[in-house]
Amino acid sequence: MHTGKLQPDNIVTQPVKAAWLQEKSVELYVLRLDKIHAVVSGNKWFKLKHYLQDAVEKQCKHIATFGGAWSNHIVATAYAAMQQNLSSTGIIRGEEPAIYSNTLQQAKLFGMQLHFVSREAYRNKELIKRDFPGGYFINEGGYGPPGAKGAAEILEHAANPGCYTHIFCAVGTGTMLAGLSLAVQPHQQLTGISVLKNNTTLYSEVLALSGKNNFTILHDYSFGGYARHTPQLLAYMTDVWNRYHVPTDIVYTSKTFYAIEHLVTTNQVPKGAKILMVHSGGLQGNLSLPAGALPFL
Ligand SMILES: *Cc1c(COP(=O)(O)O)cnc(C)c1O
Repeated sequence: MHTGKLQPDNIVTQPVKAAWLQEKSVELYVLRLDKIHAVVSGNKWFKLKHYLQDAVEKQCKHIATFGGAWSNHIVATAYAAMQQNLSSTGIIRGEEPAIYSNTLQQAKLFGMQLHFVSREAYRNKELIKRDFPGGYFINEGGYGPPGAKGAAEILEHAANPGCYTHIFCAVGTGTMLAGLSLAVQPHQQLTGISVLKNNTTLYSEVLALSGKNNFTILHDYSFGGYARHTPQLLAYMTDVWNRYHVPTDIVYTSKTFYAIEHLVTTNQVPKGAKILMVHSGGLQGNLSLPAGALPFL
């Protein structure tokens, strides 16, 4: 279990050296947001910070939010609330399990009250909210303008942020992508890799947050959908770790890395490109795998 401090200063821009990049004269750098904290890693801290500030300004003492049993957002919210001396509730999709996932155990350790609702009831968020009067509600995944505003600060942590021609990130709710779209410069091409299958409303949801149409979303790299993964993906993650020392997570960043390699090797990225992949963290989700499934966490 991890309670250590958040350390945004630990973020590094890691160069990747690979034959498939060299052959195409493409450079790849990974912005390691996973270095912020062992559990609250990645984009969640960026997405949450303005919500928490707002809650404190409004003198709300209780944060409530939504997510699944392996949600990076749930555990990050639990931590962020604890840090601000606020109480928190996580409304968890599905019946209470006999044995809590690592994520839920960790959220509890950070002081979060867990409230389980059936998958059916979970769909009606407004009804659930009535059970928590006075709570400061954050949407699932931090979706909303304050979330995008925080994510717009991510690129400031990259070494020489203006030098990249292409920026890639994983997309769940699209809040991070919206934030990046606010931050990229006109010469930078921004691409989001969706982890959801056939999410046809995603583009308009990102557009609604950013107001800019300077991004593309690719839907071909979901490996079957959210939290779906294949033995091939696990083998690929092992390979990426062994070759480049980049740890990836099964839900988001492994699929983004895979997409980048596929796009480069199939000549869909121009010669001379300098790619920045935002490593949005999420490594704690790998604990859902059987022990030893990966050579790293
Ligand atoms: C939540 C999460 C994402 C998706 O972010 P959105 O803003 O919801 O699109 C991507 N990567 C990781 C590791 C995450 O935990």
